[in-house]
Amino acid sequence: MKRRVFSGARPTGRQHLGNYLGAMQNYVNLQDEYDCIYCIVDIHALTSLEDSSGLQRNIHEMALDWLAAGLDPEKSILFVQSHVPEVMQLHTLLSMVTPVGWLLRVPTFKEKVKLQPHNVNYGLVGYPVLMTADIVLYKAEAVPVGEDQLPHLELAREITRRFNSLFGYTFPEPAAKLTSFPLVLGLDGATKMSKQASNDIEISLSPQETLERVMTAVTDPARRYRNDPGHPEVCNIHFLHGYFNQSRQQAIADQCRRAEIGCVDHKEILAQEINTALEPFRARRAALADKPQYVAEVFADGARRAQLIARETLGEVKEKMGLG
Ligand code: SF4
Repeated sequence: MKRRVFSGARPTGRQHLGNYLGAMQNYVNLQDEYDCIYCIVDIHALTSLEDSSGLQRNIHEMALDWLAAGLDPEKSILFVQSHVPEVMQLHTLLSMVTPVGWLLRVPTFKEKVKLQPHNVNYGLVGYPVLMTADIVLYKAEAVPVGEDQLPHLELAREITRRFNSLFGYTFPEPAAKLTSFPLVLGLDGATKMSKQASNDIEISLSPQETLERVMTAVTDPARRYRNDPGHPEVCNIHFLHGYFNQSRQQAIADQCRRAEIGCVDHKEILAQEINTALEPFRARRAALADKPQYVAEVFADGARRAQLIARETLGEVKEKMGLG
């Protein structure tokens, strides 16, 4: 029996290089070793979305990227959170064993309050309880997380322990499967690559669009003219290159220090490397996008398989809580 892993991600639409080099490649790699359940968490998205008109499109585009990158629906379960509504019932039941004080001290809740003071909704407070329900509904034993997400998982473990101690052992305590994701900086070279910061490169862009995005990147600010020696150690183009061709990265860094290559030339080389690396992905994506029902079929099958597990768990929980 393989150990079960659960991971959820918000529907952010077309994925960028930071997603690809971090979570997506990790998802694909875990599939052979674990029984993987991957969920697009649309209900979580509603805690901060005020306009949900693009939600379905974002779910679809994100799934296309995941599938084209190698997420295999034969090996893993891929589904949309709201398609298995049992999670909302479990969320309510777990909320009965979760002290409010635990939730109010969660650092991300405090951050969200600052970010959206006009929309401090109940869902924001209950977010960790829903996250716990996501994981334990499938009795997942491990959750792939970066170090920054450890406090969230610890809270999920606390809720699980409390439920188990009140009603008898029901859920395995989900363990962190610590993964060191590369911190991919965006085109501004200053902050993490993200859609919100508009500093991203979507992996499904065309080669020409990729080149145009790369050309906008900030480089070594001290290198004002082509003849100025550069400092690749402060330049994000240099770091991005490392993900695609390490040997060439070092050679070009040396040329940069001797002012033997200009930033425009380097960006063209990087764009070409990115395009070559993503060519198979883009071909697969185009083929999948040509089958209009494909993603819907994957979701339907994923929800069906997930629901089989979910119903069994929920039945057990209700019985233990005295609901019959
Ligand atoms: S040549 Fe390359 S590494 Fe050097 S500053 Fe320009 S973009 Fe950065």
